[in-house]
Amino acid sequence: MSVRCRFAPSPTGPLHIGGVRTALYNYLFARKQGGAFILRIEDTDVARSRVEFERDILTGLHWLGLEWDEGPEVAGLAARGAYGPYRQMERLALYREAAERLLEGDLAYPCYCSPEQLDADRKAQEAARQPPHYVGRCARLSAQERRAREAEGIKAVVRFRVGAERVAFDDLVRGHVEIDTRTMGGDLIILRSDGSPLYHFTVAVDDAQMAITHVVRGEEHLSNTPKHILLFRALGADIPTFAHLPLILNPDRTKMSKRKSQTALSAYREEGFVREALVNYLALLGWSSGTEEELFRLEELVERFDLDRVQSGGAVFDRERLEWMNGQWIRRLSQEEFLARMTPFLVRHLERRTSAGERVRQPEEAELRALVPLVQERLPVLAAIGELVDFLFLERVAVEPGQLVPKRWDQRTTLEALEAARGVIRDEIGPVTFEADELEPPLRRLAEERGWKAGDLFMAIRVAVTGRTATPPLFDTLVALGRERTLERLDRATDVLAGAAAPTQ
Ligand code: GLU
Repeated sequence: MSVRCRFAPSPTGPLHIGGVRTALYNYLFARKQGGAFILRIEDTDVARSRVEFERDILTGLHWLGLEWDEGPEVAGLAARGAYGPYRQMERLALYREAAERLLEGDLAYPCYCSPEQLDADRKAQEAARQPPHYVGRCARLSAQERRAREAEGIKAVVRFRVGAERVAFDDLVRGHVEIDTRTMGGDLIILRSDGSPLYHFTVAVDDAQMAITHVVRGEEHLSNTPKHILLFRALGADIPTFAHLPLILNPDRTKMSKRKSQTALSAYREEGFVREALVNYLALLGWSSGTEEELFRLEELVERFDLDRVQSGGAVFDRERLEWMNGQWIRRLSQEEFLARMTPFLVRHLERRTSAGERVRQPEEAELRALVPLVQERLPVLAAIGELVDFLFLERVAVEPGQLVPKRWDQRTTLEALEAARGVIRDEIGPVTFEADELEPPLRRLAEERGWKAGDLFMAIRVAVTGRTATPPLFDTLVALGRERTLERLDRATDVLAGAAAPTQ
C-alpha cells in the first residue's frame, strides 16, 4: 500500500514555524516513500478562519518548495487529487453522511440535553471533584422518547459513543501509547444542532476517506488520537500509523509561542532567511540525520529522512544556529541567484531611507554585481544588506566626529591623517587605476612614514567615507564608492571634524 500523508492546517493564523516543520516532515516522508503528500485545509472554525491566513499558508509552502500532490484549487490553479474536495467547508455533505451511518448503526445518537442541563452537570461534577464528562442522559432514549423530544421542537446534537476501554497504539515517535477512554469526557459531540461537524469528527472522516496511511502531526494532538481511533473503527476504516512530533520550545524550554518568539514564517522570510536554510534548520529541529553533516538541501533530506530518527523530547529553537545556517546557505547561492534575492531587500531599504527624507541614488546593475563578492559572505540575513552598503547610495552620510577619531588618536592627528590620505588618493591614484590593489600600498606607506598604525588610519578613512565602523573591506569599499565620491567624502569629513569641538576622550 503506498504511503499517503497529509498536512492539515487550520487557517486561523499565519503559517508558523511549527506548522512548517509538520508540513516538511510529511513532505519528506511522502517523497522518501514514493507516496503522496496531501494538503487539506481545516476551515470549519468559521469564526476564526480567514482567507488571508489560508493564502499565507499556501504561499509559504509554495515558497519553501513543499509542493503538494493533492490539494484544493488555489488562485486559479485547479484542485489536484482524486479525494477532494480538500477544504473541509466543501465537505459538509460527507460529514453528514458519515454521521448518518453512525446513527444508523447506533454508534452515535441524538442528544437533546439543553445548555442549562449540561451546565448543571458540569457544576455537580466540579463539586464532586470529577473531571468534566457527559453523563449519558440521552444515550439510551427509546425511539418514542426521541420522537417526543423532536415533537417539542428540540434540536439535537449528535454524540458518538465513546465507551470504556483502553485504546492503545504504537506511535512511531512516542512508542506504545495507551489512553483510557474514561478520561476523555464521555460521548463526543460530532455534529452540532445546526448540522455542522466538530473538529475530531472531520479529521477522522477525512483521514479515512482520503485513505491516509500515516498521520504525522504535532504532539499537542497525541491525547486526541484515541478519539480518532475510535471513530476510524466505527467508520469501518483502516487505522493509520501515527507519528507525533516533539514540541518546539523557546530557549527557556517553554512551548514556543508568539509571545516569546517570532513564529510566523512570513516574518522570517521578510528578514531575509532563505528557504534553503529554513528547510534545513527545521528538518533538524526534532530529527537527526544520523551523521555529523549539518547542511542538507531539500532533495538530500528526502533521501535521508525517516520517521524513526525523530526525537520524542522537545526541540529548542535556536535562532543563532538558524542565522548561522542562513549565512551558510546565502554563501552557497550562485551569483545570479544571490543578486536576484538580495536586490529587493536593498531596494526596500533605500526606499525607506528615501521616505525618511534622505537623498538616495538608484544602484546600477553593474554596481550591484560588483558588490556580490564583498557582501555575500557577510550576511546572516538578506535584510542586513541595507545597513551594510547603503552608504554607497546615500548622497550624504552622517559622520560622527566622535567616531572619526580612532581610540589612540586625537582630533589633530585624525585631521592630519584624513588630509594626507586624501592627498595620496588625489595625487597618486588616477581614475583608471582606482583599484583595491592600487589603493592599499600607498596608504600603508603613508601610515608607516608618519608612524601611525595602519589600522587606525584605515578606520578613520572608513568612518569618513561611510559613516560606519563596520563595512565590507575598506579598499573594495573605496572602489565601490568611486574616486570622486571618496575624495568628496574625505573632504566633507575633514570639514565636519575641523568644525567640531575637540571630542573629549
Ligand atoms: N488542523 C489541525 C491543526 O491545525 C491539525 C489536525 C491534524 O493534523 O490532525 O492543528
